[in-house]
Amino acid sequence: MSHRTISQNTKQILAKYKLGLKKSLGQNFLTDDRVLERIVDAADLDEHAGVIEIGPGIGALTERLSERAKKVVAVELDQRLIPVLREIFEKQSNIEVIHGDALKVDFHTIISENFGECNSIHVVANLPYYVTSPILIRLLEERLPLQNIVIMIQKEVADRLVAKPGTKDYGSLSVLVQYYTETSLVTKVPSHVFVPRPNVDSAVVKLSRREAPAVNVSNEGLFFKIVRASFAQRRKTLLNTLHSQLFSHLAKSDVADFLTQVGIDPQRRGETLHLAEFAVLTEAWERFSQ
Ligand code: SAM
Repeated sequence: MSHRTISQNTKQILAKYKLGLKKSLGQNFLTDDRVLERIVDAADLDEHAGVIEIGPGIGALTERLSERAKKVVAVELDQRLIPVLREIFEKQSNIEVIHGDALKVDFHTIISENFGECNSIHVVANLPYYVTSPILIRLLEERLPLQNIVIMIQKEVADRLVAKPGTKDYGSLSVLVQYYTETSLVTKVPSHVFVPRPNVDSAVVKLSRREAPAVNVSNEGLFFKIVRASFAQRRKTLLNTLHSQLFSHLAKSDVADFLTQVGIDPQRRGETLHLAEFAVLTEAWERFSQ
């Protein structure tokens, strides 16, 4: 038996509901079933899984997620799409459509109200580029009990999430994401599989939650403060950046001595530091400033 999927019917659905797409909301809908399959595969779902989907659009991904998971809660910001999604999925009792902004909705409540009978919780999303970082930061910093997050995003942002120290893409977002999760690139996605076609290529990234953060720090706030300061002026040495961003109350020579004592060459650039080195720096600074 073959039935046409939502992704194969994208143009018909948009025409039927007279939906003009909103560029401002990053509405580029995925029309390639193989890519949808790769995304869903990457999430490692089973019949006990609960999924939060962010930005379902007209439901191409939602449809597939609901076939593999126990329950899918789809959070969509565009009010016009809510009745469309509810009509398309009126017979699927395991899909809940919520009108809301992923930057504001209360994910803890969504989880406690919907996934009581689920064994694992996942976030799957095809996100507009401008909300990717804030949504990711929210999902991670709120320490939601997620097994993994699988997101399709602009290729450049994907490169930043999986970037290694010393590369041009490595920055504070890489450190934040890699502190909480193990990241891997699932697949690249060419722009021609979307309607309408975006100007950029995309990629799917999987973030698997670590049992414990990648490094041990007693003061997370300070850790991320040092990380942000280290990347603030990428062309400068670590010494100059940290001195001007964080430690301007000290003599520069003292900051240099401090870095040398913890085994980090003050002339290095912040972007070459591994998470473990940021952690050493944080712990040493805690002791030094007491
Ligand atoms: N999931 C569909 C797909 O893969 O074809 C649509 C993806 S489209 C790139 C992004 C979707 O996210 C749009 O439907 C848009 O309205 C929605 N969106 C944009 N910003 C959002 C936000 N802050 N919260 C929830 N949904 C949002």
